[in-house]
Amino acid sequence: MIEEIDNAGGAKILIVDDEAVNVKVLSAMVSGCGYAFDAACNGMEALAQVRSLPPDLILLDIMMPELDGYETCRRLKGDPLTSHIPIVMVTALDRPEDISKGFEAGADEFLTKPVNMVELAARIRNLLKIKRLSEWVKGRGGLPAGSAAQEEAEVLIVEDDASTAKMMQAIFERDSFHTVVAADGASAWSHMVERRPDVVILDLFLQDMHGLEVLKRFRNADPDTPVVITTMADDLETRMNGIENGADEYLIKPVRTEELILRVKALLKRSRMQKWLRESRAEALRKAITDHLTGLYNREYLHEYLTIEVKKSERYLFPLSIVMVDIDHFKSVNDNHGHSAGDLVLSKMASLISATVRGADLVFRYGGEEFLILMPCTDERSAMTAAERVRAAVNGTPFKTSEGEDIGITISAGVYMWESGKSHPQQAIMMADAALYEAKNAGRNRVVAAGRKSGKERG
Ligand code: GH3
Ligand code: MG
Ligand code: MG
Ligand code: MG
Repeated sequence: MIEEIDNAGGAKILIVDDEAVNVKVLSAMVSGCGYAFDAACNGMEALAQVRSLPPDLILLDIMMPELDGYETCRRLKGDPLTSHIPIVMVTALDRPEDISKGFEAGADEFLTKPVNMVELAARIRNLLKIKRLSEWVKGRGGLPAGSAAQEEAEVLIVEDDASTAKMMQAIFERDSFHTVVAADGASAWSHMVERRPDVVILDLFLQDMHGLEVLKRFRNADPDTPVVITTMADDLETRMNGIENGADEYLIKPVRTEELILRVKALLKRSRMQKWLRESRAEALRKAITDHLTGLYNREYLHEYLTIEVKKSERYLFPLSIVMVDIDHFKSVNDNHGHSAGDLVLSKMASLISATVRGADLVFRYGGEEFLILMPCTDERSAMTAAERVRAAVNGTPFKTSEGEDIGITISAGVYMWESGKSHPQQAIMMADAALYEAKNAGRNRVVAAGRKSGKERG
């Protein structure tokens, strides 16, 4: 999934510029980055092309006859069919007013002419990634409500110049962000670790260490939180250095208020999506190892887990026991009270077993009405005691249908203690199962240990 989102290959870029030479230069760069492209030589043509064959991203010139870049951008962003397509405005150098006008028109990103290929590649990659992320998130019903609203977002401002820091604080607080200021690298680092800010604004030249050093350390500990570098240095090398070291944005001082806020908001949105994505993958993983009806671990996970526990037991010479539990005459519960009453019994059984065993024990739903309890650091005697406690608890607990009708429920259990070097994980389960079979044969509602018979013979 992540690979799918990271891999921007196959994306198509629409280049819009009225000057043929610009189209030529940009298209060479775009295809050099491995993307396909189309070209349009004015705003009207661009609108028509986007509607007939939507590209994944648009590089949009500003100065064009008739429909200029701003108006083209405004129309594309105002149309729900095309508003999701990222737009990078390509502006002439030294025109900061283009940037705020462009943002107002809805542009996602800016590149200044002459366009640098490394920067172009970085911007395109970033925007395509955001686009894929938002499509992914949208396809799953959008972000859950209230997920880290901007009002709760905390900005860490790393800035050694007190008046600049104050000014930035004011900007963010006006937009209802929380702010915290660090005046040097060391305190920035401790804030990053302790407060886990949502965004970091990082000055490159600090008293005690270079901003890139702070960035490197931070990235090692936290690869996701967005970092915006602010600096006086406008040379390409410093800029590239920042991007290579994991900065998400690079702004030249004096920083323009609107641009800073807009970029920070865009970064927050992206990091929220990434977080959501990560959590939803964790959720998918949780689902894969959980039994739907009871919420216990499922049989697939047992096989994985048992192997791990067996290895631990062999290595540290801890005993390990397995208890196989089966509900007695469960078929008649379904037959007499219906399948949903049977399901209710299974759920209640799951909670009852979980509540009765120790915290270190793991409970799995092994099959229909069979449960398996894995007891690490537990020898046969203790496992017998624990299994007996579960049996007694079930025996003493009233089970009822949803109509309140009593269902008498008992269980039988088989106990097997792992014998180092002698058994295979699968064999261990079979041994516990064999003991369970003995318990059934001996009249049900009882616990039998796999070793008991041989024990008797020996005695
Ligand atoms: P014994 O005491 O020998 O274990 O008898 P039993 O009736 O419990 O055993 P048997 O294996 O004959 O029947 C198990 C029943 O469990 C049959 C099956 O329909 C039921 N069952 C399995 N999974 C589920 C489930 O998810 N929900 C419900 N309601 N019943 C289930
Ligand atoms: Mg032009
Ligand atoms: Mg049964
Ligand atoms: Mg059974």
